Amino acid sequence: MSQNPSSPKRNLMFLFRFCLAALVGLAVYSCKAPKSVSDNTDIQAVDQQAEETSQSGDQSAIRMQKEKEIKSYQPSARKDFDILHTNLDLEFDWENQIVIGKARIQAKPYFSAEKVLVLDAKDFELGAISLITADSAQKLSYRYDEKQISVFLPREFTSRDTFEVEINYKAFPERNSGEGSAAITDTKGLYFIDPMDTIPNKPTMIWTQGETEHNSKWFPTIDKPNERFTHSIRLTVPESMVSVSNGILVKQENLGNGSRKDYWEMNLPHAPYLVAIAVGNFGKVETTHGDVPLGYYVEKGFEKGASKVFENTPKMVAFFEKKLGVPFPWQKYDQIVVRDFVSGAMENTTASIFMEELRLNEREAIDSEWDYIIAHELFHQWFGDLVTTESWANLTLNEAFANYSEYLWNEHHYSHDQAALKLVAEMEGYFAESEQKQVNLIRFDYQDSEDMFDAHSYNKGGVILHMLRKYLGDEVFFRSLNEYLKKHAFQSVEVHDLRLAFEKVSGEDLNWFFNQWFLSKGHPELSIEVDYSEPENILISITQLQDLTEFPLFQFPLQVSWYEGKECKSKQFMVTEGEQFFALENGVPIDLVYIDEGKNLLARRTQNISNSQFLRQFKESHLGVARYEALDSLVSREAKEELMEVLPLALKDSFWSIRENALGHLQSDPEWKTKIPSLEELVYDLVENDPRNSVRSAAIDVLGIWEPEKYAPTFRRLANNPSYLIAGSALMAMIQGEENSIDAEFIESLAGNQNFRIVIPVAEYYLKDKVAGKGEWFETNLTRLTGEGLYYFLGYYSEYFVRLPEEGKSQAVSKLLSILQNNTKDYLRMGAFQALLGFSEDPEVIKMLEKAAEKENVTELRTYFNYFLEMLKE
Ligand SMILES: [Zn+2]
Repeated sequence: MSQNPSSPKRNLMFLFRFCLAALVGLAVYSCKAPKSVSDNTDIQAVDQQAEETSQSGDQSAIRMQKEKEIKSYQPSARKDFDILHTNLDLEFDWENQIVIGKARIQAKPYFSAEKVLVLDAKDFELGAISLITADSAQKLSYRYDEKQISVFLPREFTSRDTFEVEINYKAFPERNSGEGSAAITDTKGLYFIDPMDTIPNKPTMIWTQGETEHNSKWFPTIDKPNERFTHSIRLTVPESMVSVSNGILVKQENLGNGSRKDYWEMNLPHAPYLVAIAVGNFGKVETTHGDVPLGYYVEKGFEKGASKVFENTPKMVAFFEKKLGVPFPWQKYDQIVVRDFVSGAMENTTASIFMEELRLNEREAIDSEWDYIIAHELFHQWFGDLVTTESWANLTLNEAFANYSEYLWNEHHYSHDQAALKLVAEMEGYFAESEQKQVNLIRFDYQDSEDMFDAHSYNKGGVILHMLRKYLGDEVFFRSLNEYLKKHAFQSVEVHDLRLAFEKVSGEDLNWFFNQWFLSKGHPELSIEVDYSEPENILISITQLQDLTEFPLFQFPLQVSWYEGKECKSKQFMVTEGEQFFALENGVPIDLVYIDEGKNLLARRTQNISNSQFLRQFKESHLGVARYEALDSLVSREAKEELMEVLPLALKDSFWSIRENALGHLQSDPEWKTKIPSLEELVYDLVENDPRNSVRSAAIDVLGIWEPEKYAPTFRRLANNPSYLIAGSALMAMIQGEENSIDAEFIESLAGNQNFRIVIPVAEYYLKDKVAGKGEWFETNLTRLTGEGLYYFLGYYSEYFVRLPEEGKSQAVSKLLSILQNNTKDYLRMGAFQALLGFSEDPEVIKMLEKAAEKENVTELRTYFNYFLEMLKE
């Protein structure tokens, strides 16, 4: 599964993280604060007594701690039964949001003879349950507690018996639904979207989200990742709609009453959480990779966009097959874009489901950058679906691989530099989380399985795989993955299975690596010193500063590199001590070395690197990630002198991220225009000629600040560019010009555009030029926009009606309130709250905000709301 990515949300989370970290810091400090010195003279006697009491106290505290550990241990689910096949026949009561189902489950006892079959089935109403034999159906008695059904079998069955039970039921996904996690925001299992088609601009659809244990909200099963079965699903759907599920569509039967029955067959076993259906008015784009049919399902009208968004899928399948030496394991691969998805995307076997952000029209798809999430879900078809974590404690066995596939695809298809920089971003994500919590990657003491979907399981897991690859080399690494996949195909695994595969192929004991990275917490905190006093034999000292009572003393290879002219030389040392010295024995005198120049090691480091050394690093390193680091460090240090030299080079750098970063800096500090007159020409060249639209757009942003009038004709031309990134920036640049020469007619020609990159500048124009009579335009766009675009729009929307209340203030307030109360994305609820603050002079609005704050489920958001409401009172 992919977490829901969104920049506004990330900023919000960062804000919360910061606050939480401060609180945690305080708590730790007060625990560790020294006790006040006592004036008791008989210190020794008191000490003796205290020691005895404290020893027995310590013992009991330790005992309680150990008892707690035993109780909180989250094991793999015990197997009493094994389901072999599930046969579902489903209809939907759209109006009441009910699944009407008949399930036939073929099962057998796992090992011991059993008499009571226990199935997960959450919030069902049950009808008859029967034992099915060739010629009869025998009614069975059962007990049901709203979560599990205990079916009383007529006799004891042994593991050599297979039996079949039929369960007639209604499932109510809406009942007891509630808060999920950061990765999955709800737990209904099956979602009816606008079921009665009452919401304008919203399509009617059904989709499911099984991970972690939510599919038992719509069919009875053993809802655990270490279960596996084949299945047949029959879906009765409106004739006008399309259905998608796992496996192959084998038959469609017209029922004559406006409905149709679709027969889906999944004849390869997989885990219950990977079962999925989607039903809606989808269009489909079809293509193939070899014999594997590929389908991209998306709302009708977006097919051309989907062809572009998902266009690299066949190449990705081919690339992963080649790397892994294991052909795509399933019958077909469909990718379905839905509305209101509760996560980024989900790797259901043969049928991945994606959030609506991937629904782009042809023009929007020009700038699509969704390869990473497409690669992530695709790689899961091997890691997660073919070979599955046996328990949520081992979740990283699914997610580390999916996360690392993003690196692999970047490295293969785009560039090594792009992959390396992405890896640094993954590390940063983990380090940010590590401010709050540091836990073992494989952890058996989680409270809720949803807690496992964090930057440890994803980011840290991916980086660890990368470090293992660097340590073992590509040949051993990918050969080991092949061994692991082949040995455990269609099985569940735990982390030791992975280690054993690497050990078998490499012929090397790897306990040390797995123990420190997978079964312990933390990361090296390094203090690095380089002694240049003997230029032909540089000395390097590495000290590990992490608290060794809590974290391991890490062992890791350390790459040291330097340049002799244009030639890069390097040596690798193995760090195995807390404080270790290495002599480089470089021979040819040098005055600068790089420690882990490629940023392959997950470690926090402190090292004295001067501005002039960063300047040199920028100029000499062959690695984009090292040049990026140098630029970024000089910018954050405000090293103006060095930047004088670096910025012009950065704008011509071969790595687009560096060009984009440099432009971002020029935008935030406009004085560079006069400091380095030659920059303007360079920036203009990027506007016209950069191969990446995001760089062209950033360059336009810079010229829009520097010389809005001079480049007005350029902006006017580019405002019609097919790329929304470019057109949006050009339009904004035109509008921001002091004496903007925009004619109202031109704006009106764009005002019907639905893409937020155009909508936002148009809104900016209406506000800036105090245009009236646009209330309806603002209303229309509020209902049309979603996600990130809506977030940015909310502020403009509110500002317009604050200025012109007569155009519909009360409607605006109630619409914002509806977003605040009902939107499933927390950053949009936050955006609506901020927008409503614009109306805070109205005491009625304040009352509404207070009520909404009370009802907010997410604690951090509620705190944020209350904080502002308190401020208003003061
Ligand atoms: Zn994933």
